[in-house]
Amino acid sequence: MNKFPRKRNVDTGSRDGGRQSSAKKGLQNDGFEHRARKRFGQNFLHDQNVIQRIINAIHPQPTDHMVEIGPGQGALTRKLLANCGKLDAVELDRDLAAYLQQTLGEDPRFELHLGDVLKFDFSTLSDKPRSLRVVGNLPYNISTPCMFHLLNYSHLIQDMTFMLQLEVVQRLAAQPGDEEFGRLGLMMQYYCEVEHLFDVPPGAFTPQPKVCSAIVRLTPHRELPVKVLDVRCLQDVVRVAFTQRRKTLKNSLRTLISEAELSKLPIDLGLRPENLSLADYARISDSITRAATTGSKAAKQEESYLE
Ligand code: SAM
Repeated sequence: MNKFPRKRNVDTGSRDGGRQSSAKKGLQNDGFEHRARKRFGQNFLHDQNVIQRIINAIHPQPTDHMVEIGPGQGALTRKLLANCGKLDAVELDRDLAAYLQQTLGEDPRFELHLGDVLKFDFSTLSDKPRSLRVVGNLPYNISTPCMFHLLNYSHLIQDMTFMLQLEVVQRLAAQPGDEEFGRLGLMMQYYCEVEHLFDVPPGAFTPQPKVCSAIVRLTPHRELPVKVLDVRCLQDVVRVAFTQRRKTLKNSLRTLISEAELSKLPIDLGLRPENLSLADYARISDSITRAATTGSKAAKQEESYLE
């Protein structure tokens, strides 16, 4: 991952060689023109009311170490920088990175990292627990992998405020019994408190996306309210259960756990996957993990008899 060079006169010339159609061109007050690149999920915020609402929700403080993912043309960046102690930004688009470096790079509190957020090592920014406040109007094509990549650093993160597709926010915040309740919500709620803050209409962006968006706040739990013995096992249980959404639990989980083992748990086996809570899934997961551990201990014992 490259830190962007701290020098003025960075060439902000577009790689498109000026062949920009006016439809997708964003023109900043300072004359910078940029054609939104679909492959980078670029929908730039222009609605000042929405921008201010997001900043108010984040409420940056002079002691805060902020990290912005995909700063773009700086719609949020400038307002964040005006109020926080330090701002690291990760941007994949060279032209935008050069523009931001030219316009904000003089500020020693601002550091631009050119590269892919999915490969970014957030532990290079801080080793202090719960010290980073992460924000971003995320490129929608990578929003889920990006959030799960960040969970690898959840011990370093105070909170994360993201703009996402409304549908994704609804799935993240869904509760048992909701139609949208599934893998994404269960796994995110294992690690974080999820708050759906407010919705944002397509008209707030240039170019306009086809779908509505929403702001979500994810706050990593200080203590996990539900803790499993093996989180990979929980992931497997949830994946298998929701791949066969229409089946009842005892049928969908047949490949992972016997009906006899399942029936020992305080769970209604006739329920469908969307009606179980995270705590229920944790019980099932731990029962499988324990059975596997006991099984492998027994196998070892048997081997030792044969030696
Ligand atoms: N923050 C700006 C705003 O609100 O107007 C831009 C948001 S735009 C939806 C997403 C931004 O993420 C773009 O600047 C895009 O270039 C950048 N981006 C896309 N993929 C990325 C990646 N893999 N790593 C880092 N930034 C990325």
